Amino acid sequence: MSAAIESREAYRAISLYAPKRAPCALDLSDNTNLWGMPPASAAALRSVTADVVTRYPAVYADELKEALAAYVGASPEMIVTGCGSDDVLDSAIRAFAEPGDRIVFPAPTFVMIPLMARMNGLEPIAIPLRGNLDIDAEAMIAARGRITYVCSPNNPTGTLASREAVERIIERSRGLVIIDEAYAEFAPESFVADACASGRVLLVRTMSKAFGLAGLRIGYAVGNTGIVAEVEKSRGPYKVNALAQRAALAALGEALPWVVERVGDALEARDRLSKSLSELEVFDVLPSSGNFVLAVVRKDSSLRASTLALGLANRGIAVRPFTDLPGIGDALRITVGPQEMMEQCLTALRQVIRAESAS
Ligand SMILES: *Cc1c(COP(=O)(O)O)cnc(C)c1O
Repeated sequence: MSAAIESREAYRAISLYAPKRAPCALDLSDNTNLWGMPPASAAALRSVTADVVTRYPAVYADELKEALAAYVGASPEMIVTGCGSDDVLDSAIRAFAEPGDRIVFPAPTFVMIPLMARMNGLEPIAIPLRGNLDIDAEAMIAARGRITYVCSPNNPTGTLASREAVERIIERSRGLVIIDEAYAEFAPESFVADACASGRVLLVRTMSKAFGLAGLRIGYAVGNTGIVAEVEKSRGPYKVNALAQRAALAALGEALPWVVERVGDALEARDRLSKSLSELEVFDVLPSSGNFVLAVVRKDSSLRASTLALGLANRGIAVRPFTDLPGIGDALRITVGPQEMMEQCLTALRQVIRAESAS
């Protein structure tokens, strides 16, 4: 008998990314665009001819970079794309940190970050958010990461990092500063100008959320040309496929007004959902700058996020439960969408709360 082949040491403690996904009638769990995909992107996909599929796509997606540059107000040399922003984040981590280095991030934040840290052999250092849910800039700087990650609006809290704290981190931390703005379109402010002006910031964005193209996997980042060139090397060629490039170009061109209108719909839906959730008197709803809300389960309600999510799942609705988030407690993250979806969710949630409170 031969010995089992061992994977790279850092991989042995890693399991696959698998938030439980039972089939459901209404999925409010992953913050995608519930209004659909941009009509011009659908048309672009329908018009694809064989040569688009049989040939390789543009190696580094130059035309897409130009469109993204115009969209964010940078030059194409300051843009790098990837197979989803997850790929851009992973490539940046690989390009700017060695195995054994530390990556510093707030807690709670995007669950993929500690996972990507381990995949790349880095030491994940989680720094709790402050009581007001801002990032703790001083503690993050003191942790001396080779990479410091900030997510604003933050997933799952929906809250913004303050400009003062982010600027302090850019000024004083060592190594690369990654700012994840997956939800930029829903937020009142962005750090894109800081990323363009600084030589050590990589600002990461995605077309999976506001742009409604999650299934096509298109992410990008903005930064100084030197940083972007290193991330592009790390990423490798052909990472954005030909169909994705076409749909993305349509979304950034002809369909941009459609996207902007849907963002407006999402902001209205967010306010309405936050208000309705508060009226249930079992949640404290955090002020959100994303297309989702975090409903924190009140400690005196004797309800748990997992049981509420299970009750909703039994009624065909998926939300994302969090158990014991540091400094926050149990919470449900709910994606905002068209009014009838929100009504369906609220009706089911009222039933679940009534059933749980009676039991
Ligand atoms: C959804 C999300 C992403 C991942 O986006 P993809 O481009 O689909 O990989 C990245 N960061 C945050 C904070 C997210 O919520």
